Amino acid sequence: MNVFICMKQVPETPSVEIQEQSGTVVRGKGKPVINPSDLYALEEGVRLKEAHGCRVSVITMGPPEAEESLREALALGIDQAYLLCDSQFDGSDTLATAYVLSRAVHKIGEPGTIICGRQSTDGSTGQVAAQLAQWLDMPFAALVNRIEEVSEDRIKLRRLDDEGYRTVEMSLPGVISVVKEINEPRLPSLRGLMQSKKAKIPVWTAADLKVDPARIGSKGSPTRISSAFFPDRTRQAELLQGAPASQVDQLIDRLRSAGAI
Ligand SMILES: Cc1cc2nc3c(=O)[nH]c(=O)nc-3n(C[C@H](O)[C@H](O)[C@H](O)COP(=O)(O)OP(=O)(O)OC[C@H]3O[C@@H](n4cnc5c(N)ncnc54)[C@H](O)[C@@H]3O)c2cc1C
Repeated sequence: MNVFICMKQVPETPSVEIQEQSGTVVRGKGKPVINPSDLYALEEGVRLKEAHGCRVSVITMGPPEAEESLREALALGIDQAYLLCDSQFDGSDTLATAYVLSRAVHKIGEPGTIICGRQSTDGSTGQVAAQLAQWLDMPFAALVNRIEEVSEDRIKLRRLDDEGYRTVEMSLPGVISVVKEINEPRLPSLRGLMQSKKAKIPVWTAADLKVDPARIGSKGSPTRISSAFFPDRTRQAELLQGAPASQVDQLIDRLRSAGAI
């Protein structure tokens, strides 16, 4: 079975900056890293390869520098990486991003399980996986925290819901998004690191993917960010002084006078 992992390169979290006018993330600032949530998707792909002999590919839509993150993914044991890179993709919202990813899935062919992270640490919409399933006309299961069984045409999953866990079966090909409870991502091996340096990574443009130009970039994006900002910090912290027992008394007094107890 072919397993595809969708992986995004993001700025390291403390260095995320927002361009207030356009509401978009300022890229090129801070060290780019693999989106943390996607490390769990990559690990699950490698585990499927080890347990069932699946062929695992990683796909990213991003700038040329995203190649570095793709090599890191290869070093973890992923078989093949693809970079989707074209200035025509600039300004794409989640729907347009998912469309481009779906074109790559079609081009590689014969998808089985497509695994995404829960959400990115920059855009953070958590929309791409569901929209990808929509573009591919495939079933989708979100928030998966365990893959219980997998065959060529079915997958049994445990997913989080409001009250606990739910076990579901889904036909394949299909798309899932995974949460961090699913596994513990491994570190790359020295051999993996050496091999990843030599790997050939195809770079596909809009023309290679035969995308409809009306569905990509800002003109193909139905959403607009009207504003984006970091909230003002209005909460004031106060350190209670004195011995622990006196601090507890003070805390109870404060809570009482605030009507909280
Ligand atoms: C109007 C608008 C304009 C934008 N313009 C730009 C722009 O010019 N440049 C830019 O870089 N971003 C731009 N963005 C942001 C970009 O569209 C989103 O970052 C992207 O669509 C992913 O959304 P997200 O970060 O919320 O991912 P989420 O939905 O939170 O991610 C969920 C999962 O989807 C997968 N995934 C998400 N994005 C990718 C990807 N690119 N490649 C592979 N897998 C992925 C990963 O598995 C990830 O864990 C724009 C967004 C909007 C709304």
